[in-house]
Amino acid sequence: MSTTAETAGQTTWATGTGFEQLRTQDPELADVVLGEVQRQSNCLQLIAGENFTSPAVLAALGSPLANKYAEGYPGQRHHAGCELVDLAERLAIERATRLFGAAHANVQPYSGSSAVLAAYAALLVPGDTVLAMALPHGGHLTHGSESNFSGRWFHIVGYGVTRGTDLIDYDEVRRLAHQHRPKAIVCGSIAYPRHIDHAAFREIADDVGAYLIVDAAHTLGLVAGGAAPNPVPYADVVCATSHKTLRGPRGGLILCGADLAQRIDRAVFPFSQGGPHMHAIAAKAAALAEAATPAFAAYAHQVTANARALAEALAGQGLRISTGGTDTHLITANVSPLGATGAQARGWCAAAGIVLDKHTLPYDPEPSSVGSGIRLGTAAVTTQGMGTDEMPQVAGLIARAVRQERGIAQRVAQLVGGFPPYPPYQT
Ligand SMILES: *Cc1c(COP(=O)(O)O)cnc(C)c1O
Repeated sequence: MSTTAETAGQTTWATGTGFEQLRTQDPELADVVLGEVQRQSNCLQLIAGENFTSPAVLAALGSPLANKYAEGYPGQRHHAGCELVDLAERLAIERATRLFGAAHANVQPYSGSSAVLAAYAALLVPGDTVLAMALPHGGHLTHGSESNFSGRWFHIVGYGVTRGTDLIDYDEVRRLAHQHRPKAIVCGSIAYPRHIDHAAFREIADDVGAYLIVDAAHTLGLVAGGAAPNPVPYADVVCATSHKTLRGPRGGLILCGADLAQRIDRAVFPFSQGGPHMHAIAAKAAALAEAATPAFAAYAHQVTANARALAEALAGQGLRISTGGTDTHLITANVSPLGATGAQARGWCAAAGIVLDKHTLPYDPEPSSVGSGIRLGTAAVTTQGMGTDEMPQVAGLIARAVRQERGIAQRVAQLVGGFPPYPPYQT
C-alpha cells in the first residue's frame, strides 16, 4: 500500500472534521471510520453506484442541521424553529428544479428506494398493474419484486432486453403495455449501460393511458452535466438518488410537474416518511450547486469517456461487454471467457484491492448468487482524477486479477496512490 496516499487521506480527512473528538472519546469506533477512509483511498473503487462526495457536502452532512426536526415542508412545518432549515430545503428545491428544468422537486426522500415508494404511492393504489423492467434484466427491487413492497402490493409485469444484443426491446414493451394496460410504466435500471429512449416510453405510456415513471437513480448526475438525456420533459415523475453520479449525500429526490406536486409531496410526508433529514437536505443543496458548474459538466463527460475507454479495454482483455459498449458510467461484462464466474471474479478482484460487483446478466445460465458477469462504473475513479489514459491500466489489472495472477495488489496501490480521493482541506 502506498503510505503517502494512506497518510494524506488519513490526516487531511481527520483534521477537516470533528474527527479528533471522536478519536479521543471513542477510539474503537474512530479506528473503524479511519480504516474505512483508508480502504476507500487505497482500493480501486469501481462499484457503479458509488462516488466520493466533496468536502463541502461532507461538511453539510456532518453539521448540527442533523439535530433539527422539521416535519412538513418549508413554511408549513409541524415544529418551531425551522426558519433556517427552511432556507436550506428551499435552496435544494430551487437548485434541483433549475438544474433539471422541472416544475417541482421533493428533496426529502431518505434514499432512492424511498423515492420510488413515494412515486408508486402518489400514482397507484394496491392491486394496480405496473409494467417495469424485469429484475434479472436490470430492474430495481422497488420496481417489482416479491421481496419488496412493489411486488407485494402491485401486479407487476416485466419487460426485458433482447437476447444477443442485451438492448431494451421497445416493441415488446409496447406489446406488453397494450396487453396488460398498466396504470404506470417504469424505466430506469441498475445495470442498463445505454441511454434509455424516453420519447419511446412516453409514446407507449400515452398509447395506453399510463403514467411514466423514470427511475434515474444512476444517471441523474450525468443528466446534470449534460452527458445523458434529460428524462424530465418526458416523465410524469422522475425518481433519483443524490449519491451516485450526482455525487451528493446518500439520499433521494423526486422531480415532477406542477400537476402532481401535491400528490408527490403527500406521498413522501406524511404517507411514507417522518421528519426529513435536514443535514442530508442541506448536503443535497451543496451537491446540486456543484452539479450546476462547468467543472461538473466536464466531470460528467469525463465519466462517460472513461467508461467507453474502460469497456473497450476490457473487451481487449477478452471480456464480453453487454450491449457491446456503454453510453453512461455503467459497464456490465461477461467474465466467462476468462474462465471465471461473476462471484469468483468479484472475490479475486477484491483480494487485489479492486472493488466491483458480480452481476447476473440477462439470460444468465448461472444462478443469481453466482452470475456470469461483473458490473462496474467510472463515477468514483473519475472524481479521483483518473482519465482515459488510466483506463487500459484499470482493465489490465481487472483481467490479471481475474486470471489470479500474483502481485496485482501492489500495482493497484501504486495506481490509486497517484489519485487520492480526498486532497488536503482548505482550512
Ligand atoms: C440505487 C437504485 C435505487 C435505490 O437507491 P437506494 O438509495 O439504495 O435506496 C433505486 N433504483 C435504481 C434504478 C437504483 O439504481
